[in-house]
Amino acid sequence: MQNVLWILIGLMLVACGEQRRWPAEITGCVDCSTDDQAQVKQSIIDLNEKSGGTLLIPQSDGANKRFPIDLSFVDPKVIQPTDDSRNTRAALATLYDDHCSIQLSKELHKPENANYFKAVLWHELGHCAGLVHDKDEKEIMFPITQKIQAYSEEVILRFINEFRNSAHL
Ligand SMILES: [Zn+2]
Repeated sequence: MQNVLWILIGLMLVACGEQRRWPAEITGCVDCSTDDQAQVKQSIIDLNEKSGGTLLIPQSDGANKRFPIDLSFVDPKVIQPTDDSRNTRAALATLYDDHCSIQLSKELHKPENANYFKAVLWHELGHCAGLVHDKDEKEIMFPITQKIQAYSEEVILRFINEFRNSAHL
């Protein structure tokens, strides 16, 4: 397991229960460069393609009145868990009644972390859809992410199925 970057992913659940219209839409990306926006968009297009439908609208001004998800890139200290300094948290999703906010660590900009980006974003989007953590380390909703290449097609399709069910898509 040496040379593997373990990334702890967090979820903070503020509230849930209100009706949310899915597919959700990405309505903002704070501190995102053009490259970041392209990477986010491509990750969502890839997820939609795998699903054979539309789980998320990758870019929107909110006019569709779908469940809004906003993204931001933050200093890793902002989302670092205080109880376990051995791990680096890559991202944190906060699910509110009327929107979901995903904070992504700027550590994801490092070239050596490029292969984690999609897995981290999909995981956090899963939280926005209401998914909780899985105990099986093979799964995308396991709290610690692997590189995207480590996930089998079967695992990805299972994630999509659970995503759909949770979001009532
Ligand atoms: Zn998580």
